[in-house]
Amino acid sequence: MPYSNLLRLLEKNGIEYKTEYNLKNSSTFRIGGVCDVALFPKSADELGMCIALLDAENYPFCVVGRGSNTLFSDGEIHKAIVFTSALCDIDVRDERIIADAGVGLMSLSALACEKGLSGLEFACGIPGSVGGAMYMNAGAHGGTMADVVVKSRAYDRMSGSIITVENHDFAYRKSVYMQNPRLVCLSAVLELKKGSSDEIKAKMKQLLQARRQSQPLEYPSAGSYFKRPEGDFAGRLIEVCGLKGATVGGATVSEKHAGFIINSNNAAFEDVMELEKRVIDTVLEKTGIKLEREVEIVR
Ligand SMILES: Cc1cc2nc3c(=O)[nH]c(=O)nc-3n(C[C@H](O)[C@H](O)[C@H](O)COP(=O)(O)OP(=O)(O)OC[C@H]3O[C@@H](n4cnc5c(N)ncnc54)[C@H](O)[C@@H]3O)c2cc1C
Repeated sequence: MPYSNLLRLLEKNGIEYKTEYNLKNSSTFRIGGVCDVALFPKSADELGMCIALLDAENYPFCVVGRGSNTLFSDGEIHKAIVFTSALCDIDVRDERIIADAGVGLMSLSALACEKGLSGLEFACGIPGSVGGAMYMNAGAHGGTMADVVVKSRAYDRMSGSIITVENHDFAYRKSVYMQNPRLVCLSAVLELKKGSSDEIKAKMKQLLQARRQSQPLEYPSAGSYFKRPEGDFAGRLIEVCGLKGATVGGATVSEKHAGFIINSNNAAFEDVMELEKRVIDTVLEKTGIKLEREVEIVR
């Protein structure tokens, strides 16, 4: 086994892992093959240790939160996948919330509401983790992580130490984490504002309703598949190009929201890839605009 030394180190350090791990249910797309090894660190320190061990072994890896912006390829993925889902500590201090990278954004938004803290309403329907949202600068309904994040803690692969990050270089679906693969987010400090729980709840209800009406939440997907091109919307462009309902195998451009590629019928990774190409080529040919994928591919 090419990773037997890695397994020995994981065992020695008490890190939970599974070999030959099926990734299909680890992505909201419900697509994916089998990775060599899946790691489940239980704390920020353990996550740092996992990365250090993988780097020491020179083993390729990927960190995954909720897999809601990730598309895994089918077949064998010769990588270690490090899941942050067990890193779920939350500490509320006045108007600040310190949340581990694995905390779900939707439950964090609900907690902020319960505590009468406003600012995370935008996140109430985003099915990602704090770490994934930091990486993507997730946002919706006019709000983004950039509006609420004060600082974060990261494992720095270059120095092998835990550092505080204060400048996140947030931009549309961009962050210091996306630009620097040497950084892995361990936790984030968010600053919110005092508000009325009832008003926050009402706002969240309205946003969730709008989402249910406009998005194909009944199908597996990774949300908006393409980035928003400047001054326009990917969904609008795809729709005017007549691509709603376009299908390759089990992957379809949603009829409800053309910006979503959905897994309509047991889609294979290659179905999504072929449909992505068809959409990009057609939109480019008909509008002159080149769409870019927002979803992260792990193969
Ligand atoms: C139905 C649906 C609706 C959605 N709506 C929205 C929306 O309104 N707005 C929006 O912005 N997004 C939306 N998304 C996309 C997705 O939820 C967000 O991008 C989310 O932030 C991804 O978080 P995640 O934990 O699932 O990330 P993952 O898919 O697990 O990972 C995404 C990327 O982040 C990296 N990453 C994850 N954790 C860490 C970490 N701790 N440190 C460093 N890098 C890390 C991964 O390596 C990967 O490159 C939607 C998705 C779905 C399925």
